[in-house]
Amino acid sequence: MAHKDKKQFAVIGMGRFGTSVANGLSSMGFDVLAIDSDEQRTQAISNMVTHAVSADSTDEEALRSLGIRNFDVVVVAIGKDIQASILTTLILKDMDGPLIVVKAQNELHGKVLQKIGADKVIYPERDMGLRVAHHLISPNILDYIELSEEYSIVEMKVPKAMYGKNLKELEIRVRFGCNVMAIKRGNKMNISPASTDRLTEEDILVIVGETSDLTKLELAYQDS
Ligand code: ATP
Repeated sequence: MAHKDKKQFAVIGMGRFGTSVANGLSSMGFDVLAIDSDEQRTQAISNMVTHAVSADSTDEEALRSLGIRNFDVVVVAIGKDIQASILTTLILKDMDGPLIVVKAQNELHGKVLQKIGADKVIYPERDMGLRVAHHLISPNILDYIELSEEYSIVEMKVPKAMYGKNLKELEIRVRFGCNVMAIKRGNKMNISPASTDRLTEEDILVIVGETSDLTKLELAYQDS
């Protein structure tokens, strides 16, 4: 697969997370520069990405010589070595070029990253844990995305108790304060569902709301 306006990505740190991001981007057809200070790690990824280089990302000169400031997005996927993660982010921020996405090891690390100007801070373990928790409460929950501290989106298979009913009858907004944003049916996505649309077994609901309200809705339908 090739893209017309290909974004250029660099991923620093080839642990499990960084490797997975680099592989994902690469298999979607994007150019990826993979960087790790450990030569064995760069070797291991070299067949999967456009370029794989051994370099210490806390060495500003090393990063400059790789032309990192010309990349569109740099993902910093160094977890355990928090100092290296912060230093790398600072150096990248100083270059004033790419969008900087950084994996945080914990909340405090995340706060520091935000303060020093990371454009996006991600918490893969926390987010995946939350998704699994929601799926465990209700197997109907297919995906769970935290939008902010208060709001989330869930993707939910239509529970049995909703089969054949329409949105008006279900009163999701009145009962739970949540909004059905879209209904997925096969490959089709209805992004402005009408209150008279009847739900079927194959449908998937995309619902937005306050996280506590969404949890109430999930619990109300957990057995069906
Ligand atoms: P995961 O959970 O995704 O496996 P992790 O949180 O355990 O990752 P680490 O093992 O700490 O992450 O780091 C990931 C990678 O980052 C390692 O392969 C390590 O060699 C690399 N790394 C650490 N510091 C630097 C650095 N300064 N420059 C480049 N690579 C680095």
